[in-house]
Formats: sequence, C-alpha cells, structure tokens
Amino acid sequence: MVDESSHVRAVAGEKPAVLLEKAFDISTVGDLLRHYPRRYFERGELTNLAELRPGEQVTIRVRVVEVKGRQVRAGLFKFDITVTDGTGRLVIPLFRKRNFIPKYLVPDAEIVLAGEVDTFRGKVQLKNPDMTDDAEEMVGDAGKLLPIYPATKGVPTWSLRRMIRHALDVIDIDETLPADLLAEKGFMGRAEALRAIHAPKDRQEVAQASARLRYDEAFVMQVVLAQRRLLTALEPAKARAPRPGGLLEAFDASLPFTLTAGQRAVSEELMADLAREVPMHRLLQGEVGSGKTVVALRAMLAVVDSGGQAALLAPTEVLAQQHARSIEALMGPLGQGGQLGAADEATSIALVTGSMSAAARRSTLLDVGVGDAGIVIGTHALLENTVQFFDLGLVVVDEQHRFGVEQRDALRSKAETPPHVLVMTATPIPRTVAMTVYGDLETSTLTELPAGRQAISTTVVPTADKPGWLERVWQRAREEIDAGRQVYVVCPRIDGGDDEQVGDLTEHGDGWASTATVVDVEPMLSQGPLQGLRVGSLHGRMTSDAKDDVMRRFAAGNIDALVATTVIEVGVDVPNATMMVVLDADRFGISQLHQLRGRIGRGGHAGVCLLVTSSAAESPARERLDGVAATVDGLELARLDLEQRREGDVLGQTQSGRRSQLKLLRLLRDEGLIEDARADAAALVAADPTLEQHERLREAATALAADDRADYLGKT
Ligand code: ADP
Ligand code: MG
Repeated sequence: MVDESSHVRAVAGEKPAVLLEKAFDISTVGDLLRHYPRRYFERGELTNLAELRPGEQVTIRVRVVEVKGRQVRAGLFKFDITVTDGTGRLVIPLFRKRNFIPKYLVPDAEIVLAGEVDTFRGKVQLKNPDMTDDAEEMVGDAGKLLPIYPATKGVPTWSLRRMIRHALDVIDIDETLPADLLAEKGFMGRAEALRAIHAPKDRQEVAQASARLRYDEAFVMQVVLAQRRLLTALEPAKARAPRPGGLLEAFDASLPFTLTAGQRAVSEELMADLAREVPMHRLLQGEVGSGKTVVALRAMLAVVDSGGQAALLAPTEVLAQQHARSIEALMGPLGQGGQLGAADEATSIALVTGSMSAAARRSTLLDVGVGDAGIVIGTHALLENTVQFFDLGLVVVDEQHRFGVEQRDALRSKAETPPHVLVMTATPIPRTVAMTVYGDLETSTLTELPAGRQAISTTVVPTADKPGWLERVWQRAREEIDAGRQVYVVCPRIDGGDDEQVGDLTEHGDGWASTATVVDVEPMLSQGPLQGLRVGSLHGRMTSDAKDDVMRRFAAGNIDALVATTVIEVGVDVPNATMMVVLDADRFGISQLHQLRGRIGRGGHAGVCLLVTSSAAESPARERLDGVAATVDGLELARLDLEQRREGDVLGQTQSGRRSQLKLLRLLRDEGLIEDARADAAALVAADPTLEQHERLREAATALAADDRADYLGKT
C-alpha cells in the first residue's frame, strides 16, 4: 500500500525518483503530492480540423499522412507533418535543434496534438503543439484544466503530471484534520483537496483545494508551536516577585522620567509572567529608543529583589559595554552594591566580555558565582563553561536575531530550574511572522516613543538623474558639523574585495564595482568635501579595541564624521549625531535602513537621513527607498519589506536554501487564516496535548518538528 510516507520510487520508478530527489528534494510520495502546480492551463476541446478557428485552444485527433524534414540552417531543422482527420488537412511545422523528432510521428500513425490555432501566410496552423506518445491520455485531457509544475529539463511538467496522477490513483490519503474541525470549516477532505489541486474540474475547485491545503500547513505548524508553548509551560520555574520596599521600588523612585503608558503596560505583563512558577518566554519588540532597556531592567531588578540574578546577553562587545554603561547610569548608587556607603537594597553590576584580563575575569566570575552581582551583562563570553551563576532567574537576550537557539539554551542550562527568558528586538515583526517564526513566544510591543525623541526626516537623493546633488549632501553635512553636531556616513562595503558587509539585497542590476566602500570614502571625504574636519572610520574587520576606541572618540565628540558599515546598526547611542548619509542606500534592505536611521535624532535635535542612490527613478530599488522615506512606522516598513521580498523568503526558504514543507502559505496574504489556525491549534492541543486522539495529525506534527528544514520554527 502506498501512503504519503512511502518512498517516491513506489510511484515514479527508480531512475525518475533519483531525478526528483535531486531536482526538487522530493523523496516521499507525500513530497511529490506537495509539489503543487505553479499555474493551470486550459487544454482545448477535441475539435475537427474543418472547424479550427484562429486563437482557439484545441485538441485534435489525427492520422499522420506525411513527414518531410530539412535543414534550415546550421543547428536548425524543420519538419512538416501533414495530418488529416477526414474533415480536413493540416500541415504542422516542427522546428528542432537536431535532426530528430519523436518516433511516433510516422505515416499512418494515429496521434493526438493540442495547441493554439494560428494562421501563417493565410493558412491555418497549430502553433508549438503539445504531443506525447500516449494518445489516450491526450484525449482524456481535452477540455481540462491542466497543471503546470515547476519543472526541469530532466523532469518536465508532463512527466510530473503523469507521476502525480499515478500517485493519486494508488495512494491512500489519510485525513489530518479532526472531523469536527473539518465540518466546522466546511473544507474539502485532504484526499479530495490533493486530487483537486492536481486535477481540478475548474478554477473554483483549485481555490477550494488551495484554501484547505494552506490551512493544513498553518494548522500543523501551529500545533507544533502550541505543543512547544505547552511544554515550556510545564517546566517548573521559580516565581520571582519584587520585594516591597526593595530594589525595584528604590529604582522607580530614582528614575528621572516617568514611564510611558506602554512601558507600564508591558512591565505589568512581565511582572505577571515572572510571578508565575512557569518560565516566561516572551518577545519584547519596540523601535530603537522606545525604551525597552528600562522595561527589561525593571524585570531584572524584580528578579534581584527575589534573591536571584539576571543576565543580559548582547551580540557584540561594544553593545555589552554600552548596556553596562547605560544600566550603571540608570541605576546610579543602586548598582554599586558592596561598595562603601551603598544603599542596603543595592546590587552590583558585572560585565563579562572576551577581552577582559585574566585577573579581572577571575574576580568578576567570583562575584557572579557567589551571587554578589545581581546583574550580569555580557557577550558570548557569558556562555562559556567557566561562567557559573549563583541563582540565575532571568535571561534577557538583546537583538536576538544574532543569537542561535543553542546559545540561548547554553545560557538557560546555567540555572537550576529553567530561568525566565525575555528576548528583545528592535526589528519590528509583522503579526503573522510573530505568530509563526516566533510562534512559541508570547509577544509584547512598545509602540510609542518616550517624549523628547526627535523626528527624523528622510530624503532620497538620486544621483543618476540629479548628479549635482551629492555635492549638496556634503555641504549639508558640513553645515551640520559647523553647528556642533556629528554625522554618520554609511557605506555598504568595507573595501573592494569584501563580500561580507553588503546590505541584505544582493540581486542587483549594475555591478558591484561602483559601490561605496569605507576604505575609499573616508579619504575621499577628508581630502575633499569635509577637508579640515575630523573624519573617522569604523567597520567589522577592525580589532575590537580599535572599534571601541573609534566609538569612544565619536561618542565624546572628537570625531565629526564617522564613515562606517552597518556595524553601527545596533545600539550604540550618540545623541549628538543628527545626520546620517547612507551611500548606495539601495544596497540595503528596508528594515536595515530603518534600523540604521534609528541611530540619529536620539538627542535634543531633529535628525536628517539622506539615502543616496544611483538607482533609476521608478526602479524597484527606488520604490523601496521612497517607502523608507515616506514613513517612520517600523511595522508598516516591516510589512513592506515582507511584501517585496521574494515569496516564501521568511517561511519557505531555509538556511540550506531548500524549500520547506510550507509551500502554499504566504504570511501576508494568509494572515487571517494563520490566526484561525493558531486559535484552533491551541484549543486542540489544550484538550489533547500529546495528540493521542489525532494520530495522523500527530505524525504530521512530528514530521514537521523533526524536519531539519523547519529551522524557522526554532529561530528564537
Ligand atoms: P531601546 O532599548 O528600546 O532602544 P532605551 O531603553 O535604550 O530604548 O531608551 C532610549 C532612551 O530613552 C534612553 O536614554 C532611556 O533612558 C530613555 N527613556 C526610556 N524611557 C523613557 C521615558 N519613559 N521617558 C523619557 N526617556 C526615556
Ligand atoms: Mg536599547
């Protein structure tokens, strides 16, 4: 018996099976059935030769009268096949690269052809007719909607069509959806849907089948995620509540500003999570500067109040240091525990990085190990075995997209009971992405910026149609610097030989040669338009000491213009920097540009962001930049980003570049459907956590969870 898990050779044969695996990563019959049509094509009705009308799609059943072939020129042969069906005659021209036509095209053969009727020099013709050696199949297809598959030379669409039809004939397809859900949704059964998508009666059936199968994809995925959330919820954790009259209260009293309503609301969510004996597993999203750090710090202080420790994991050393500095500043004396004259409730802050001296490291790790340091900030160095906590209660991961699952787990494993986990990201995430890619996290969002944040105005500077404008850009930069402010100049690349530091978009018409590089632009500016000013540079290939040194000088106001790659994208805070010039801005993705400009307008002065591009007016690249210039709403931009990226980029494409099991689902289009599936899955998993009652669904969920292609499910 053949089912979806049978090897594809069961329906395709040994040799095609190898080709299928190689070309499409199809190894089971289920994979083959999930190789969905790209589109459909209406095959013409069976028609008499006497009734052919130009422009019509037809299928004709004829007898070959004569075959004449000749060479037209080098590498091109023409065959004229004369056919008849008793009602008329037709000459069908076939052009071939080689002196060869299918062997069934011989006089007296009964054949069936299909194609569009055309006229050439007043005579009726059949243009590029479809033909196969199977006349009966051709007759059966007449007037039908035929699927066109993603195909290759070795596995053409007609061969896929045959294999899939054969599979549908012999396979036993189990229903995955519970009967009550199926009835409630009014969906077709799974077997019917698979048949309909590959061999539909009409377009309406295609739409129904596709809706059902898209729901399947969303549902199985959401079942996996619901199970994960449930598992997390089953782990025991220590409840961490702030102590009345403790550190958190003292901190709140010392804050020089009042929390925004959003910060208060999110804080409450976090406190409620922390107070439960279940590990928190939450994503905190909010634009750069929306005040996430303060909110996260309050959660950390609540944990310290309860006698535990909190760790903050940052993606780079510069960022870890910056976090340490800003947390030290926010906490003031409350972060100087153990020092003379510190308040009773004070704790101490430890910074653990890779570049510490051995002695400093030893003493810091001791503080961490005995629990004197309530707040521990660090980079990957925190993950090393030598780092032991006294009682790790909360892990805050900053800018999680730079951390892998293993790294987060490594840190989690340092606690006796699983710690609470808070993931912070400044990259806005559309709701459906949050429900899928980050689907095992609860999310909190900070939507408003604290008062005092300055507007950033963004302008696209096209140099292709307005060559003089670049000069004006540098003039403007000089004015800004003359007014006492500082300027970022962002380049897509470090130097000519480097492929690493490019923006996220690599598909691009013109060559790389003209792309702005840090190495070229710095001297160009310091010897040219910004002569006499202090121009510095920063990029990822500098040593971390050199980077720190440049950043420190820039932060101290000793560098006027900083030429840099996207290393400045994350976190470093220089309020006096008010202008950003992004060169070859079209090399960067939408979200990246948005993230970059978050570096300016952080002080008391408005920010100016100039997106310089040589891309042509009305090109897609230019549209993208115009989109960034038009709004500062990060969420809207994230949607735009998602729309513009190749379909399936987020869900479908895995790290290995192969297609995932999610073939039909699209995050934006299917937002409502994903939401439904999420609610349905949550209800089902709550009632039957191990899917005892739903064997087929259990298999599907297990298969999806185990699939190495399902990386996107474990991204956090
Ligand atoms: P994020 O981590 O989201 O980028 P931060 O927490 O670093 O944002 O906050 C950015 C700046 O705004 C910091 O200098 C912080 O002290 C300040 N800030 C945070 N919350 C408020 C608030 N409610 N009112 C005024 N300033 C705030
Ligand atoms: Mg921050």
